[in-house]
Amino acid sequence: MPEKILISACLLGEPVRYNGTGLSLENTLLSEWKTAGILVPLCPEVAAGFQTPRPPAEIEAGQLGTDVFAGNGSIYENTGRDVSEQFRFGADLAVKTAIEAGCRFALLTDGSPSCGSSFIYSGHHDGQTRSGMGVVTAALRHHGVEVFAQHQIHELAEQLRR
Ligand code: SF4
Repeated sequence: MPEKILISACLLGEPVRYNGTGLSLENTLLSEWKTAGILVPLCPEVAAGFQTPRPPAEIEAGQLGTDVFAGNGSIYENTGRDVSEQFRFGADLAVKTAIEAGCRFALLTDGSPSCGSSFIYSGHHDGQTRSGMGVVTAALRHHGVEVFAQHQIHELAEQLRR
């Protein structure tokens, strides 16, 4: 059985990002995986019931996705609305999807308060970034799923070959 890969739906061009756009990662590997039918696309935020477009949200300053996953941190829209519970729900749905599909690997969009894996935004809605992961990545890693950012697609391919 070929490995299945959970993938951020926006990386496949689906217009599910907060601003109503997709990202469309152009890559030969991705095209091969799509053709092979091993990609499991999911947007955890849309799955959790968020509308598109929606206000941008950031993990509060000083907290990380691991804190939000553990119930100790919060995520706020730029309107000030606390959306932590809905983000945690999206993370739960991502774990459920990965387990049901048998995904041991995920390729997620970096920078997102959900899908980020190497960086997230500051928490001040000022465009600044910091090291850290989003709440979906924290939940997946907690359940043993290896998460790669889109710029690590070659590392993921290497893992699949092992
Ligand atoms: Fe993309 Fe993840 Fe944000 Fe959905 S939650 S738009 S899949 S980065």
